[in-house]
Amino acid sequence: MGLSRICCDVLLVGGGPAGLAAAIALRQRGLDVLTADALVPPIDKACGEGIMPDSRRELARLGIDLAAVHGSPFRGIRFCDEYSIASANFPTAPNLPGEGIGLRRLVLHRLLVDRAREVGLRMHWGSPVGLIPGQPPSLGGEPVRYRYLIGADGQSSRVRAWAGLEQGTLHTRRVGFRMHYRVRPWSNYVEVCWGPFGQAYVTPIGDNEVCVAVVTRLPHLARTSRIIDSIPLLRERLRHAQITSRERGSITTTRRLRNVTNGNIALLGDASGSADAVTGEGLAVVFRQAALLADSIASGSLDPYAAEHAKTLRLPQAMARALLVLDRHPSLRRRVLQVFARDPALFEKLLRVHLGEEPLNRFVLAHAPRFGARMLIPPAFSELVF
Ligand SMILES: Cc1cc2nc3c(=O)[nH]c(=O)nc-3n(C[C@H](O)[C@H](O)[C@H](O)COP(=O)(O)OP(=O)(O)OC[C@H]3O[C@@H](n4cnc5c(N)ncnc54)[C@H](O)[C@@H]3O)c2cc1C
Repeated sequence: MGLSRICCDVLLVGGGPAGLAAAIALRQRGLDVLTADALVPPIDKACGEGIMPDSRRELARLGIDLAAVHGSPFRGIRFCDEYSIASANFPTAPNLPGEGIGLRRLVLHRLLVDRAREVGLRMHWGSPVGLIPGQPPSLGGEPVRYRYLIGADGQSSRVRAWAGLEQGTLHTRRVGFRMHYRVRPWSNYVEVCWGPFGQAYVTPIGDNEVCVAVVTRLPHLARTSRIIDSIPLLRERLRHAQITSRERGSITTTRRLRNVTNGNIALLGDASGSADAVTGEGLAVVFRQAALLADSIASGSLDPYAAEHAKTLRLPQAMARALLVLDRHPSLRRRVLQVFARDPALFEKLLRVHLGEEPLNRFVLAHAPRFGARMLIPPAFSELVF
């Protein structure tokens, strides 16, 4: 092989949220980074489009302040089924924005690309990275020389296979779709509506627009309108609303890999494992991983990243497991939602855990008896006891 003309400290395969966040963080630490994506920005993707407070905090560290951006703030999460409505506000905590922001995925991608350009990132768009087993990665047919290669190429990562990192466990696999509707948001929460076939979550993204993402384990029912039709309250609200975007779909998984690094190659974002979309934490996780990986590479080794990566997914995957138990057991779900509707403070404490502001074990120790009692005692009695 002749000497390659394309060289860099770090070659980033994939310019989605994970790839761009890592690229910006690496540039902030002074590395020469080249990012290549098969598509051309702004890149759209099926997503609930709710930027949670912890995602906002990570974006601020990259120099992206969403307060200045046109989106729609939301103050917490609301769970609804045909019997109950349970709402939890986001916690107030130092350095944590008190609100999330609903934002079109296209807008988020544009903000990341603009910031990447500002920090001097080299970007190749419309440029799939060639990954042939046993050969170096190539761009436009030319091999690339790099010190580190990062695979941030999403759920169906080809870098993962190319680098021999496929071994792991696929815990859950569901299908998600998203669509936008022209309608005045009726709530300043992200509403997770539980139906017989899956969840539909509604995020306000503007004065007159909402994003609806649906997730189901039943592939034959996996269309936005089918899931909406199965949830009467939502069907009514959207009955006359104009659809403002093309439907987009994607798989969503809970996946754990045995290893996320091999030599000087690392996986990042959805390529490196994931938690089901219903957690709403996908972006926060990939942004945290990006910061971790940038620190690790800046220290001259991938070992810290390899050692710490699993922690970034532990809590979201535990939450995903719990939420998918509720997905499969409607009577349990009904009871849990009733408990949270009657005891919003308990729901808020759980949301605090979900955002990483309180350890799960402390929550379990402090609140399991109260939760258990509320689950067991019939609602009428529980009013008297608590
Ligand atoms: C239905 C649904 C709803 C969701 N809702 C939310 C939510 O509300 N909030 C939240 O935080 N998260 C949500 N998520 C999760 C979130 O969207 C993902 O975690 C996030 O997109 C992962 O980003 P990524 O950069 O790792 O992957 P991706 O966004 O998939 O980006 C991968 C990029 O790699 C590129 N690529 C692939 N192969 C190559 C190649 N060979 N060469 C060059 N480029 C390549 C692709 O073109 C793509 O741009 C949702 C996911 C789904 C499916």
